Amino acid sequence: MKSVDEHLSDILASVDPIAALDLQLLDAHGCILSEAVVAGTDLPSFDNSSMDGYAVRVADVASATDKTPVRLPVVGDVAAGSPSPYSVQPGMSVRIMTGAPIPAGAEAVVPVEWTDRGLAEVSIGRAAESGAHIRRRGEDVNAGEVVLDAGTRLGPGQLGLLAAVGRDRIKVRPKPRVVILSTGSELVEPGSPIGPGQIYESNSYILTTAAREAGATAFRVGIVPDQPQQLLDAIEDQLIRADLVITSGGVSVGAYDVVKEVLTRIGTVEFTEVAMQPGKPQGWGTIGPDSTPIITLPGNPVSSFVSFEVFVRPVIRRMLGVEPLHRPVVRATCEDAIRAPAGKRQFARAWLDVQQGRYVVRAVGGSGSHLVGDLAHANALIVVPEDVTQIPAGGTVEVMVLERRLT
Ligand code: AMP
Ligand code: MG
Repeated sequence: MKSVDEHLSDILASVDPIAALDLQLLDAHGCILSEAVVAGTDLPSFDNSSMDGYAVRVADVASATDKTPVRLPVVGDVAAGSPSPYSVQPGMSVRIMTGAPIPAGAEAVVPVEWTDRGLAEVSIGRAAESGAHIRRRGEDVNAGEVVLDAGTRLGPGQLGLLAAVGRDRIKVRPKPRVVILSTGSELVEPGSPIGPGQIYESNSYILTTAAREAGATAFRVGIVPDQPQQLLDAIEDQLIRADLVITSGGVSVGAYDVVKEVLTRIGTVEFTEVAMQPGKPQGWGTIGPDSTPIITLPGNPVSSFVSFEVFVRPVIRRMLGVEPLHRPVVRATCEDAIRAPAGKRQFARAWLDVQQGRYVVRAVGGSGSHLVGDLAHANALIVVPEDVTQIPAGGTVEVMVLERRLT
């Protein structure tokens, strides 16, 4: 049997980051920046008013109080969007709107709330400090400054910043397109009537959403029956939109394990037993004219889930060009005694919590890889090394953390 590490490094060795593309900002949403972004402009790019009010000289309003307001002539208006045609001479003021450029000579903006809102002449009831309500050029971002590093994922805040510095296109690694097919003639779409011996298809819901959470664009193809030609046709149809193909089911040693049967024949996919529990039957290789990577996962839902975490998520992250490839691993006190098979790495579904500043973990459910009920109540996987067969209650274990809040 192949070790988990060996299998993973074989797969990773054949996968490269996806080449970067120049995309429109909205198309780059969720993608990973492949260039460091240098601001081409200061932000703000000119001194401007942060309030609707009056641009003044500080000395002219120094004596202003509620009871003894200062009256100043208003020489004109300056709105956002055009340079000020006026300057503020001693004893004068200019009415100004939020975002409008500060006129020459002005030292502060008096908010409209402190005035009588006069148009030809304004009565001001408070003094202003130098620079009050003026947003200074470059106080946010300086031209020439790196505002986003390569490797940053572009969310709303990052895309807003790019637009604010005037970028309309940006170089990113696109999200890998992952196609998910579920094989099994017993499978029925959820929501449909079910017959004897049939079960609802659930793996694709695990795998599609897990792939999306890992940063991929995932396409759920749905159910493919255990028929060699139908499987081949389905894969071939999907290659056009796939950077990675994931199948579930049909890789064990049963009579209708069609994925293994068909892809073995093609000869570019290798099937192996990996020393892990769950998830022993695994396969990977390439397929189609572009040698698209394909990873074939076992059909039991828990096996599929664990295999995704162990093998597929790192591949998606490699394609995205981000580090680290792996989930964070923490050491935790294990509340339960655990038994594990000799010679295999066990991944036990678990609930991880922080109690009094320390990680505490408990196993969730049994080791049966069909136990989806338990899967829904796990936020971590206890990783029991190959050479460990039992862990006493209260012992220390390594835990792969699946929930971001916990690290
Ligand atoms: P297989 O690997 O095809 O032998 O499947 C192993 C077990 O997982 C069988 O009990 C299947 O019915 C079940 N199974 C396979 N694929 C799925 C799926 N997509 N959703 C739920 N269960 C599945
Ligand atoms: Mg099957």
